[in-house]
Amino acid sequence: MRIEVLGVGFDNMTVDEAVAEGARLMSVPGAHYVVTPNPEIVETCREDPEALEAVNGADLVLADGIGVIYGAKILGTPLVGRVTGIGFAQGLMARMAREGKSLYLLGAKPGVAEQAAENLSGEYPGLRIAGTGDGYFQEDGPVVEAIRASGADAVFVCLGAPKQEKWMQKNGEATGARLLVGLGGCLDVFSGQVQRAPEMFQKLGLEWLYRLVKSPSRIGRMMKLPLFLVHAAGEKGRRK
Ligand code: UDP
Repeated sequence: MRIEVLGVGFDNMTVDEAVAEGARLMSVPGAHYVVTPNPEIVETCREDPEALEAVNGADLVLADGIGVIYGAKILGTPLVGRVTGIGFAQGLMARMAREGKSLYLLGAKPGVAEQAAENLSGEYPGLRIAGTGDGYFQEDGPVVEAIRASGADAVFVCLGAPKQEKWMQKNGEATGARLLVGLGGCLDVFSGQVQRAPEMFQKLGLEWLYRLVKSPSRIGRMMKLPLFLVHAAGEKGRRK
């Protein structure tokens, strides 16, 4: 059963459980997709019904971000913990490497996915990179065809939210892949272009602060976090 936080239903799972479920979905015929909403995406979903439908229509909805954990707690329906998109992706790739599965990397600026592919092939021996493509294409058709032709088992779709969620919902089936995962800026991290916050920040749930200090232009987006907590507190008041 999913735990609802301001309209978005989250799967209540640890990282290991989420990875196991992702691997299971990859063994089931048909396309499945995974989303990793943070408070900013939940707020976007409150204003964009198509985004909400795409997010709630996913086979796995993982709570990415300490804000979602706080929100669920405020609402009196706590989640077991945070499952970051990167943590999920790393667990899944380790598993895919063991099973010899193939991965397509889609998104980010030209050249980034290729660099990420090179790094990931080194980090996960056994993982097959089926192909790569940048995220600044005009038409879906050729991209979908390239993924289909690659025969990839899974696709990391890194186009930013809510574009990637809508893209996966619309095109997932046609790609022929069993699992698509929406991962925002992960390819920038895997390529080495963007540094992930030091472990201390991650452990304290302050990754957002690190990202803000590194790129202050994110402040507009980040203002959605306090707004999200205010909305959660308001919702709690209504439920009483
Ligand atoms: N992006 C893309 N196509 C677009 C818009 C964005 O491929 O049309 C990429 C962008 O280059 C970046 C990622 O999507 O790599 C979004 O990163 P962001 O840090 O905004 O995502 P977050 O992890 O915060 O959701």
